[in-house]
Amino acid sequence: MLIDMHMHTGGEAVGFHMTPEMIIQLMEKYRVNCAMVSNGDAGECDHQQNPLPVELQVTQEKALQENINFARANKGKIFLAVWVKPRFQGLTYELCKLIEDNIDIIKAIKLHPYHSAISPTDKRVIPYLEFAKQYNLAVISHTGGCEDASPTNLYKAAKMFPSVPFIMAHMGLESDNSEAIELLGKADNLFGDTAWVPMNSTIKAIQKYGTHRMMFGTDSPIDGVDTYKCNPWGERSMYVDYFEKLRDIIGDNAYDDLMYRNAQEILKIKP
Ligand SMILES: [Zn+2]
Repeated sequence: MLIDMHMHTGGEAVGFHMTPEMIIQLMEKYRVNCAMVSNGDAGECDHQQNPLPVELQVTQEKALQENINFARANKGKIFLAVWVKPRFQGLTYELCKLIEDNIDIIKAIKLHPYHSAISPTDKRVIPYLEFAKQYNLAVISHTGGCEDASPTNLYKAAKMFPSVPFIMAHMGLESDNSEAIELLGKADNLFGDTAWVPMNSTIKAIQKYGTHRMMFGTDSPIDGVDTYKCNPWGERSMYVDYFEKLRDIIGDNAYDDLMYRNAQEILKIKP
């Protein structure tokens, strides 16, 4: 069994190319049983954190509806995280209704404090967190790249909503992950994923806090259908370590928790 809890569609406006077809191809090729997917088309700002022009803004409702159609066509395989737009939209009645009507396949709210240029503790984000609490959804948030997106800010949000699982995607992208690893010890409802996290950081987190705090996720298919193996230029992916080395290092029990059981329990993803 394998669950990848961090995949995307969309993101064309900021230069990514990630389609439902690529996800299905990857899942078949690499035997992924289930994926949790969010739609990057709901990103609000570009890579310099400037607001995307109006003609490139896609509403959070439209982005979600597209992914609902994708998940409905792939029952038991595709589950959703709702990428939200706290800067330019906020929690709308329409979005709440869409989530309620599809609560069987929706497992999390997805924040992107970098591409929204907004902290998870900002008052414009809070209504989404309250909604997550009310509907027993997790909150998965990008961490890394700017102050707003720091692991510490997500930790503060996690402290405000102790019943909601918060997942630090990337464990502080492009850092040595030490800030995020430390924070895991300070809030029981804080978790990490492995997206662009070197294997050794994941091992460190497991050694320090046990086998229930990290989940396997990859940002696929950000580097194409073979994201697990290599990038478009053929350079070896760090995920190869997770498939070829990690089980022998941490043992079957820790490995199975990481690769699917934690996602089943914490995100309630069940095929
Ligand atoms: Zn991502």
